[in-house]
Amino acid sequence: MRQKLVVGNWKMNGGFAFNAALLNDIKSGLNQANCGVAVCVPAPYLAQCQLALSGSKIAWGAQDVSAHESGAYTGEISATMLRDFSCDYVIVGHSERRSYHGETDNLVVQKTQRALAAGLTPIVCVGETLQEREAGQTDVVVSRQVNAVLEAIDVAEVERIVLAYEPVWAIGTGKTATPQMAQEVHASLRATLAKKESGAAVKVQILYGGSMKPDNAQELLAMPDIDGGLIGGAALKAADFLAIVQAASGGR
Ligand code: PEP
Repeated sequence: MRQKLVVGNWKMNGGFAFNAALLNDIKSGLNQANCGVAVCVPAPYLAQCQLALSGSKIAWGAQDVSAHESGAYTGEISATMLRDFSCDYVIVGHSERRSYHGETDNLVVQKTQRALAAGLTPIVCVGETLQEREAGQTDVVVSRQVNAVLEAIDVAEVERIVLAYEPVWAIGTGKTATPQMAQEVHASLRATLAKKESGAAVKVQILYGGSMKPDNAQELLAMPDIDGGLIGGAALKAADFLAIVQAASGGR
């Protein structure tokens, strides 16, 4: 049985005072969480997060990682540096990185490999644009994105990744995939995983991301292959984030 997982993606938001209040409110409101909970924060605040969350049930992580191990890569942050701050997770291949920073499938693969090698859990994001969906290309696009990663990692590593299906047209737009639409893609992603390693396919958590909010979380999370959420906007309000965690806790 897969445990559900709710991950907040703070994107480029926050500041010392804002973070302290948000982390405190999440920590104190997290009474009966029966699911995994994590926040992926801007890198400068990892130390603050580590201090605030050590010993709590909340894990933390980063939103990107370098494809390189170390060296002359100005501005980059390595996977081992993230481990120095006790990160468990790192988001790779978020659509905002793919579209604003030109990240290719190949770069996402390298980042995933670096994360795995450093003992981090990569949250590998895949998803189609509106144009691709309307052209009936959703399956082709997400299978290409996930297969690039699966072909490059060892069979034993498959169960160490988390996948996030994030339709690009639903991110930060208020438009959400219907539970049925999302379930269809999640089931197809699980079938793709099964072709690589059937044992791992049943273990890998596949999160949904794209305007998940307290009022739609429950029905999305009730779908058999939706194992949690990657939450953007709603992760910046403790009450909303906690309501989603509660919806995930009441699931299977
Ligand atoms: C995201 O950035 O991963 C995301 C899903 O954002 P939002 O929830 O705001 O759509």
